[in-house]
Amino acid sequence: MNEELWTELPIFCPECHIMHSVKVKYNDLIKYMNTPSANVVSSFPYLNKDDCEMIISGICNNCWNWLFSNEDITKAEKKS
Ligand SMILES: [Zn+2]
Repeated sequence: MNEELWTELPIFCPECHIMHSVKVKYNDLIKYMNTPSANVVSSFPYLNKDDCEMIISGICNNCWNWLFSNEDITKAEKKS
């Protein structure tokens, strides 16, 4: 049996209050949780940047975009 077991890592976004999930290999998740200094990007090299950000910050991609676009608006308003 050499089959890789995948699991859904649940992530509750504090901004939109929606439960999201990221699919990771079960063994990688166990290793990551047992290693305090583990780095998300190197622990799950198959995840894209957005999924990694979601694991690190808990904030989903939609809210990231929303937060960043809001920040741009604030900066633009200060300039004028
Ligand atoms: Zn969100």
